[in-house]
Amino acid sequence: MWIKQAASRAATLCIVGGIFGASGYAYAEYPEKPVTLVVPFVAGGPSDKIARDVAESLRKSLGTTVVVENTAGAGGTIGTARVARANPDGYTLLIHHIGLATAPALYKKLGYKTSDLEFLGLINEAPSTLIGKPDLPPNGLPELRKFITENGGKLNLANAGVGSASHLCGLLLQGALKSNMTFVPYKGTAPAMSDIMGGQVDLMCEQATNSTPQIEARKVKAYGVTGAQRSMVPALASIPTLSEGGLSGFNFTVWHGLYAPHATPVAVLEKINKALRVALKDTALVKREEALGITVVADDRLSPAGHKKFFNDEVTRWSKVIKDAGIQPE
Ligand code: ASP
Repeated sequence: MWIKQAASRAATLCIVGGIFGASGYAYAEYPEKPVTLVVPFVAGGPSDKIARDVAESLRKSLGTTVVVENTAGAGGTIGTARVARANPDGYTLLIHHIGLATAPALYKKLGYKTSDLEFLGLINEAPSTLIGKPDLPPNGLPELRKFITENGGKLNLANAGVGSASHLCGLLLQGALKSNMTFVPYKGTAPAMSDIMGGQVDLMCEQATNSTPQIEARKVKAYGVTGAQRSMVPALASIPTLSEGGLSGFNFTVWHGLYAPHATPVAVLEKINKALRVALKDTALVKREEALGITVVADDRLSPAGHKKFFNDEVTRWSKVIKDAGIQPE
């Protein structure tokens, strides 16, 4: 009896294996349990906000609960290492930003290699905003430039740790103004934003995702936005680009992408990518993001190959910028 059952199971395996491929067979039913989406920064910041928004839409398109886990610290590298070492079964994913492309040039030693991750698609792009505490004396970018040049050493600049987007932007600002400020690291920009609003910290570069509501409510002062053009969002439209203000090197947006541990079966990667594409077409999600000044990716970078190509170009671009600026890895 047992032999008969085993023989029939083996036959089924052969047939199904032929359809899905050897590794695909075991994952034909994916997902069968909740998926953990790791955010490498604390809750309440831009990466967390994007993750929770996308997780909600992915829940519908993937057909399972997507649990957001905040594994913060060291500019996002701790959470990244956690996913790089996770079981490659599609149940532990990472959402991370531009920092994944800059960290290799900013760290002497990382707890992971980029090749430990599979690319699943680029999600969004947002400008970063240069903001200050409400009672910071300068009004507008020309006054701020003068103020930093005169008071650089006395000013502090919040960031989410070495390798974070706010850290990169802070490095660029110091370089552009040839003025060193004191960097104050946090495990994400959510607590840094509270300290800016409370007046404990002077300045920060923060993604529109998190700063647009605070700028609109005048809880922080806004001095400039990154990117080639001004944002069209009403709360940001009057803020000049940093390039308009004569600061070079700020023509960038902060993007987020989705990743899985290396060696996740192709069939699973394909399912997640398909679900991501559906999730990012969710009009409610797109509208929510657009209201904050975020663009949801709808081009070829949404494919794993397009994401990987864009990522590699970003690594090349930022490694050069970081090296040319004489920034030493830590
Ligand atoms: N926006 C942060 C950064 O500067 C990270 C975060 O909390 O999302 O990279």
